[in-house]
Formats: sequence, structure tokens, C-alpha cells
Amino acid sequence: MKTIGLIGGMSWESTAEYYKIINQEIKELAGGFHSAQIVLYSVDFDVIEKFQSENKWDEAGNFLCQVAQNLERAGADFIVIATNTMHKVFSQIQKSVSIPLIHITEPVLVQLKELNLNKLLLLGTKYTMEQTFYKDEYIKNGINIVIPWQEEIDLVNDIIYNELCLGKFLHSSESMLINIINKAVEQENIQGVILGCTELELLLQQDQIQLPLFKTAELHAKYAAKQALIN
Ligand code: GLU
Repeated sequence: MKTIGLIGGMSWESTAEYYKIINQEIKELAGGFHSAQIVLYSVDFDVIEKFQSENKWDEAGNFLCQVAQNLERAGADFIVIATNTMHKVFSQIQKSVSIPLIHITEPVLVQLKELNLNKLLLLGTKYTMEQTFYKDEYIKNGINIVIPWQEEIDLVNDIIYNELCLGKFLHSSESMLINIINKAVEQENIQGVILGCTELELLLQQDQIQLPLFKTAELHAKYAAKQALIN
């Protein structure tokens, strides 16, 4: 079995899910007493959040390059970054190590192709929704990405940073997200929703939404587990 290098802590609540899902998937696929071989480097999210809000993406990238290099030295065969937003520095990190990184959009794109869906609402941090680094991964694969209105972007971003990343899960915020999704269903004719933030799936579940929900953390974690079992 290959060793998965996991860059976590952004936030730790969603990294805990990655750890659990990867192990569940390995058990499911390999059976018996099998569990995942993981090297986890969990960062202090306060450091990362400051880089983000001060627009210091190069510094954030350098910081995570060192983390990735530590994972490579510790024996990781490939690396998974357990957050959508920090995929902004994906290429920088990939260049700094000689082992592959698995991009978080890769398993989502596999599913979208299988289901033949090409118009999706994207929810995530303001960086993920507004900037091009993340949306372009879908757009270059023929997927149309719809993002919410400006005040809704701010609202979703506030829910992520002021609640979910601090471990607060509120029904009122869950309802707000559902309203944003329902509005996009009515006005934009979307075919599904990409939860492009690893904490959103801690709050929203498939049975609350009529359209297919693409949970990036769950898909990424399961995909990593499968890759670990491929020779
Ligand atoms: N985990 C979140 C994401 O998937 C947001 C936290 C972060 O900024 O990394 O984008």
C-alpha cells in the first residue's frame, strides 16, 4: 500500500473527516484489518488564515512547500491538500517535491463526467468562488460554473471563516445555504452543487438538497484511498 501525505489543519475539523473517510475507504476496499498508511502534517490554521487575509499567497505557498517536503522526507508516495482554497498554490507546491499531488477537483470532474453534468453552482470561500485558480479547473473541462451574488458570497465566506472553521454548526446558516442553492436552481437552471469548501459538507447533507451535491472532501479522500491501493 502507498503512503498518503496529507496536508491538513485547514481546518482541523475537515481534516479529521479526511482521516476518517480515507481509513473507512481502505477498510472497505482492502478488508480485514487494513487501514490507511498516512503521514499527516497538520498546520496551525491561524498562520494560513493570516497569509490569506493579508493577500500573502507566495508566503503561504512557501510555507506549504516546506510542509510538502517534510511529507516527502517522511515517506509519502503522493500528497493531498485537504482544503480547496489552498489549491491556489497547488502548482507551486507540486514543483517543490518529486512525488505527485492529487488535485481536489480531479475526483469531482470524474463524477461530473460520469453523470454528464455541465452546469454547477460552486460554494466555497470568497477566494475559491471569486478567483480563477479553482473555477478554471472545471471550465477548461467544459463545465459551466455559477457563483452566488456578491452579498451571498460574503455570507457563505462568513459562515466558513466565522463559524465552520471555528467548529460552530448553526441551523440558521444551514438554512441560508439551502436558500442560496434553491435560488440558483430557480434562476440559473443548475444541475448540481459543488461544495468547494471542505467544511461545508460538515453542515449540509445530500438529503437536504434535491440536486446532486458534490462533497469535495469526501470525494478527494476516497480517491486518495483508491490511489493508495493502485500499484
Ligand atoms: N477548508 C476550506 C476550503 O476547503 C477553507 C479553509 C481554508 O481557507 O483553507 O477551502
